[in-house]
Amino acid sequence: MRLDGQTLVIASHNAGKVREIAALLEPRGVMVTSAGDLNLAVPEETETTFAGNARIKAHAAARASGMPALSDDSGLEVAVLDGAPGVYTADWAETPEGRDFYMAMERVWTELQNTGAAAPFTARFVCTLCLAWPDGTDAVFEGSVEGRITWPPRGTNGFGFDPVFIPEGHDITFGEMEPAAKHAMSHRADAFAKLVQGTFG
Ligand code: IMP
Repeated sequence: MRLDGQTLVIASHNAGKVREIAALLEPRGVMVTSAGDLNLAVPEETETTFAGNARIKAHAAARASGMPALSDDSGLEVAVLDGAPGVYTADWAETPEGRDFYMAMERVWTELQNTGAAAPFTARFVCTLCLAWPDGTDAVFEGSVEGRITWPPRGTNGFGFDPVFIPEGHDITFGEMEPAAKHAMSHRADAFAKLVQGTFG
């Protein structure tokens, strides 16, 4: 297994993502640090696909640190919004004072209402993980979880859009769910299972 005895850099400055990826890696016995801990520069996400942006982040961190790096590019795709906010999910939360996810969730809800569509408001979270090596090679893994959007937001667990997302087959939002339950079914867990198969298997 190529990660034996190495430290992996989680190529993110997003505390919520770093926490979830570290929790997924923990049972694998992998030592981790993060781009935030190493004070690495935040690269610009200039691609229009999850995989493209995941590659940018992982290669930037692997190059700058000399260690293997794992990035996560993820987002929310709402069916009646033609997949928006998609790769722009984080952008919908941007304000001059930092990210405001209540505002972003409210925008999703307002745009949903404006379509005139009836519930259920089908949506999915998607996650693309990229594992990049300092020699410039990489591997990409994609995961998703289906569900629906609800309003108002519920729950304080998780991060980002979790309080408005109810995964299929459940009645509670990711924001109301115990972290372990979310980790067992999330888009990130789905992509991670594929990474484990390809990297640790
Ligand atoms: P990016 O991958 O850094 O472009 O940002 C993805 C954005 O999607 C995050 O900032 C969150 O708003 C949202 N997102 C991704 N994964 C999750 C999740 O597991 N729960 C809630 N929101 C998420």
